[in-house]
Amino acid sequence: LIVPSWNQFCQHMKEIYEICKDANGGKVADYIPQLARFDPNLWSVAICTVDGQRASWGDSKKPFCVQSVSKAYNYAIAASELGADLVHHYVGQEPSGRFFNEICLDTHNKPHNPMVNSGAIITSSLIKNEMNMADRFDHMLNEYRKISGGEYVGFNNAVFLSERATADRNFALSYFMKENGCFPPQTKNLAEALDFYFQLCSLEVTCESMAVMAATLANGGVCPITEERCIASRPARDVLTLMNSCGIRPARDVLTLMNSCGMYDYSGQFSFHVGLPAKSGVSGVVIVVIPNLLGIALWSPPLDEMGNSVRGVQFCKELVNRFNFHNYDSL
Ligand code: GLN
Repeated sequence: LIVPSWNQFCQHMKEIYEICKDANGGKVADYIPQLARFDPNLWSVAICTVDGQRASWGDSKKPFCVQSVSKAYNYAIAASELGADLVHHYVGQEPSGRFFNEICLDTHNKPHNPMVNSGAIITSSLIKNEMNMADRFDHMLNEYRKISGGEYVGFNNAVFLSERATADRNFALSYFMKENGCFPPQTKNLAEALDFYFQLCSLEVTCESMAVMAATLANGGVCPITEERCIASRPARDVLTLMNSCGIRPARDVLTLMNSCGMYDYSGQFSFHVGLPAKSGVSGVVIVVIPNLLGIALWSPPLDEMGNSVRGVQFCKELVNRFNFHNYDSL
């Protein structure tokens, strides 16, 4: 077993869960009513190791939308299917140092990275863009279900409709990107490209299924429950030969980007204090990956000024205080 003293480890996790339960700062996102209605006291933690040991605390079976956590998986799926080289022809790798939905591009007129809205809109527009919208959605639902080992992945249509109805910023961002030639030639219809992005934000999970999804990243792209490879560790040999490049490994690359860009404009501080790849979403979800060990899903709706879950961030800090999980704790 990868975590031999499992009960002891879980006891620590439970203690941290209880400590964070008492935090009462932050504000539930209210830009759409479907998010504003969430009870600020909701709080859950779920863990899944790379060998399939599981545990969860709190409201771990209550569904919520993945929101910006989809950005990490969409990138992983796009890079697995197309190779990271092609994806990064359209999107950079640099933290933007700006708010997640700001209207700005890098010096090459590309979105800064796949973890901000601009980069995520472009990344999703690369996925199966020769198919019709229905097939593209089905394809992604299937991929997400594989990554979650067949556990709960749903779709919240009310969130999708609200996102679309209040999407002025994302439309402005997309027109700005269209003007700058950011979209692939296959994207003919901007509204469809945005619909696809919103549909992926509106995929629904529970803390338990999200933990399996995080564990799949911790396990290098192989789901620990089904042992199915969902995210390429490196491209298939023929693709590799074609690209004549060997530095491309989607499972590794997504964690690298989560490490530098996953927590909005708090990413630098998070990387400093916690030192683990993570991605947050406006629903109050945070996934944290301890490579080769375990995936953690945290969910609590109240957000801090940066847009990250207050309890989620607190949990991560407490976790690295107790365990040497920080990237550089081995020094
Ligand atoms: N749907 C939201 C948006 O695109 C997602 C943002 C988020 O989770 N930060 O604005």
